[in-house]
Amino acid sequence: MTRQEFLRRNVECKRRARISMFLFACVFIALFAGVLFPTAGPGRFVSAFGIACLVGLCVSLVAVLWFCRNQARSAGVACPSCDGGLLGHPGKVVIATGNCPHCGK
Ligand SMILES: [Zn+2]
Repeated sequence: MTRQEFLRRNVECKRRARISMFLFACVFIALFAGVLFPTAGPGRFVSAFGIACLVGLCVSLVAVLWFCRNQARSAGVACPSCDGGLLGHPGKVVIATGNCPHCGK
């Protein structure tokens, strides 16, 4: 991969991450509000509504962690040798030195 291709993929990955994190934040806020204010649910299902929001919040958190972990790989900006992510500071090291900061190759 050329340096230009790496930079282009890095910028595209950051753009996609910004959009995804905005959507995740909206979901978090809605579910967190459901946990904090469970009386918003209908009648006798108040506690079930709060528990459902709490479970949804936990599932969303796992989804965000999974997304962040696989973000570099799915965007094609992971090291081919060690599969380490090359976004953010590691990406800057790659651009400056031409070597992966994780494995040195
Ligand atoms: Zn590496």
